[in-house]
Amino acid sequence: MSALVATINESECIGCGLCVDTCPEVFAMYESQNVAKVIVEHVPDEAVDACHDAVDSCPTSVISLG
Ligand code: SF4
Repeated sequence: MSALVATINESECIGCGLCVDTCPEVFAMYESQNVAKVIVEHVPDEAVDACHDAVDSCPTSVISLG
């Protein structure tokens, strides 16, 4: 388990689903609200690279990793 924590500014998420496709270990869709959510407290080690890819691919740049 890495020390990285992912967060999403849900108010600016457009619900495109790219982060879920890129890193399903960390992100899932709130189907009812059409926004993504973070489903883990800390990013698993094996998902760190994919999580960085999700940050880079988010079209609205609303994912933070810290
Ligand atoms: S990639 Fe960005 S805009 Fe798309 S669902 Fe994920 S957080 Fe929302």
